[in-house]
Amino acid sequence: MFEQLGLIGCGLMGGSFALAMKKAGLVKRVVGYSKSPSTTERARQMGVIDVEAPSALLAVSGADIVLLAVPVSATESTFKAIRHLIGPNTLLMDVGSTKRDVVDAARRVLRDNLGAFVPCHPIAGKEVSGVEYADADLYAGKQVIITPIERTFTVQLQKAVDVWTALGSHVAKMSPQSHDAAYAAVSHLPHLIAFALINGITGQEHGKEYLSLAGPGFRDFTRIAASDPTMWRDIFVANREELLAQSQLFQQTLRELEQLISSSNGDALEALIDKASETRANWRISSPQKSHK
Ligand code: NAP
Repeated sequence: MFEQLGLIGCGLMGGSFALAMKKAGLVKRVVGYSKSPSTTERARQMGVIDVEAPSALLAVSGADIVLLAVPVSATESTFKAIRHLIGPNTLLMDVGSTKRDVVDAARRVLRDNLGAFVPCHPIAGKEVSGVEYADADLYAGKQVIITPIERTFTVQLQKAVDVWTALGSHVAKMSPQSHDAAYAAVSHLPHLIAFALINGITGQEHGKEYLSLAGPGFRDFTRIAASDPTMWRDIFVANREELLAQSQLFQQTLRELEQLISSSNGDALEALIDKASETRANWRISSPQKSHK
């Protein structure tokens, strides 16, 4: 049981973590801070946090567990704002969708207490943002990727695993580099394609009319295009090398399909569709317990 959670960023992810911690009886008090005082106030009114802090530093004051749930571009400035109150016994975690940039920021700022920081990425979320959508069950049954580095303290790492496990999450460990490479392929690229697809359709002369004719397949494929623009801007920029590499690979496979269509090579086209169809039909969201390199 923790005495106090210092929550920085009282939005969807942070608010859900606070609610989940309370529901599981893992924390006595939650002190929260968000950039806009109105967000922090709303979080308190909703019972997501117990006390509003006027600064990130004051949210951390007296906390034995701290969660950063801010856009990844705000990570470094937040570390700078709170570093004086991060001690060797604090459990400091984040939920950012990219991990190399977050870990680099931690290395630059946290110095002697770098080991207290356990980088985390819950593979949970919604295409809506804000504390209004916070959900105590958001993390239950979902995967959380933890990307420890050589300086991460063993005690904090184990505490982080225990906390997420107590919230019903399945924890997997991998390096920040492996994380960013994998999620460029299975998360960042699909979002990029979804945004481009919508803009590509609406940018053409009869685009709006075409959209009005679309059905469930289009709805399913483009659900993620409604995601938060600031969050995705940050992710794309933070993980640009891996994302651009995945985008190049995607364009190659798209061109391959285009060539087969252009030459009416039905057999080869069917073989490629069959390969994709079978892979997708056999794919399931996994909840691995094992560690990845
Ligand atoms: P959100 O609902 O928009 O919440 C973000 C919160 O951070 C807002 O309350 C915002 O305050 C606050 N904030 C922004 N800049 C800040 C700063 N400099 N200092 C303090 N607070 C600040 O977004 P979210 O979906 O929870 O995303 C938070 C993090 O989770 C991001 O790093 C994202 O990559 C990661 N993540 C999101 C998902 C998802 O599906 N949404 C999934 C996995 C990971 P204001 O309200 O005042 O702007």
